[in-house]
Amino acid sequence: MNRYDVLIIGSGLGSLLCGYILSKEGFSVCILEKHSVPGGCLQSFRRGENSFETGIHYIGSMSPGQTLHSYWKYFGLSQNLALEQLNRDCYDLISLDGMEYPLAQGFDNFVEVLESFFPSSGGFLEQYISALKETVSAFPLYNFQLTDKHIKTTWMGTNAWDFLSKIAGQRRENRQLLEVLSGNNFLYAGRKESTPWHQVALINHSFISSAWRLRQGSDQITNHLISYITSAGGNVMTRKQVSKISSLKNKFQVETAGGEMFVAGRVIAGIHPQSAVSILDPSLVKRSFQSRIMRMENTISSFGLYLGLKPGSFPYMDHNLYYHKTRDAWAGREFKKEQWPGMYFIYTPSGARQGDHSSAVCILSYMSFDEVRRWEGTSAGKRGPDYKSFKSEYAEKLLQMVERKFPSIRSSINSMEVSTPLTWRDYTGTPDGSMYGIRKESSNYLKTLILPHTKIPGFYFTGQNLNMHGAPGVTIGAIMTCAEILGLEYLFNKIRDAI
Ligand SMILES: Cc1cc2nc3c(=O)[nH]c(=O)nc-3n(C[C@H](O)[C@H](O)[C@H](O)COP(=O)(O)OP(=O)(O)OC[C@H]3O[C@@H](n4cnc5c(N)ncnc54)[C@H](O)[C@@H]3O)c2cc1C
Repeated sequence: MNRYDVLIIGSGLGSLLCGYILSKEGFSVCILEKHSVPGGCLQSFRRGENSFETGIHYIGSMSPGQTLHSYWKYFGLSQNLALEQLNRDCYDLISLDGMEYPLAQGFDNFVEVLESFFPSSGGFLEQYISALKETVSAFPLYNFQLTDKHIKTTWMGTNAWDFLSKIAGQRRENRQLLEVLSGNNFLYAGRKESTPWHQVALINHSFISSAWRLRQGSDQITNHLISYITSAGGNVMTRKQVSKISSLKNKFQVETAGGEMFVAGRVIAGIHPQSAVSILDPSLVKRSFQSRIMRMENTISSFGLYLGLKPGSFPYMDHNLYYHKTRDAWAGREFKKEQWPGMYFIYTPSGARQGDHSSAVCILSYMSFDEVRRWEGTSAGKRGPDYKSFKSEYAEKLLQMVERKFPSIRSSINSMEVSTPLTWRDYTGTPDGSMYGIRKESSNYLKTLILPHTKIPGFYFTGQNLNMHGAPGVTIGAIMTCAEILGLEYLFNKIRDAI
């Protein structure tokens, strides 16, 4: 028997941060990861000379004194990560039906740069920035603050599209500006009918504060956190798929698919809650809780191209580009097969920079799991010729759309890797390869809310399904999970003392 104080299932960002905090606090910790490579969405993969990030392409608020920088200082990340700041006057370029608009870093700069494109917006931009700031201040931990003020849950029931539409008013110019401000909604798989405003505000506030690429790949985060956990006596084990969690004399017994047994007083599930409840012994979990979780809907998946490029043939871009086929920034995810893709996100990885050129480019678009469902029972490398043709057909469709903006891209290609929703399902273990896990609904936010604690004493959730996805959301989620064990005030003070 392998006995620990805490067993953590999955080795994504949330799990690793929990492992770090609890190891630092003297708990014996073991992280069990099903895949051969740890990190979940933090994984990077190498093809030839190039390294590609999979699920963290840029991060926000990493200037000293800003929120993520403050938290990550406690984890030793801020001091050790190799970062590159994106273009201050354009970290995201939004392209709508061929018209391009830059989103700039710094709140005043953001307004100034966009105002030059929308000179008669009548204060809409200022109102937008005030709304971002006001919303973020209602979530004290996102402001690196600990107060006893309750989070204003009214924001959670506010629909982003309705909220922004109201402040935009009916001016024609503002309706277009509204689409520009929504242009990077791939970051939260935006849906007009359901995306909560606070999600949009917290994400955009973070990137407008400052936006950064990871110069040596996102797996530098994994490596740093694992090295600390193991140096503190903890274990991070790969190829350990947890298949059952049951109780054993007031403790948890955790079994892997390979038949190994682990015992701990506490278990943290850093995996999708639907995967977690399906491996919990029925005696531990109430039917009603299980069916509530299983009924929750997930965000859409993605299709990706990872291209190795000929030297000197493609420019290095110090910004990301969100390209939308039409002027409607929210339509991109709705496109049916015949019109797919409706949008794409493209960026050149920082590590691929060769002077003014890039040796690699990554392109992502939305894709529903339904497109690949016929292969759901197959495993990577054994999906057959039909699947290969499917990948080629969709890679071609995406490339044709990218060529509209980058006509010479095809002749620059040296190598091509393709990811589909099946790749995501298999590499991160999320149901249907969902990008950001459980879809939060503005119309009934509490119904889609996952709390860190459960009714099973000693069993907790962490990771992107908790409150928010993305680096800041998952970081704050990990703090909330560990606060269930250590106390929030105690933990927050420790974090504050470290900065
Ligand atoms: C395409 C894409 C792009 C993104 N871009 C950005 C970005 O630019 N910036 C940003 O901040 N965020 C981005 N995100 C979001 C961010 O990557 C995630 O929110 C975050 O990394 C999720 O962390 P997590 O802790 O929930 O774990 P995950 O990364 O979901 O990892 C879960 C881990 O659990 C393992 N696991 C699952 N089941 C089991 C089991 N039964 N036993 C053992 N192990 C198991 C999986 O193999 C996996 O390693 C992006 C996400 C996607 C999908």
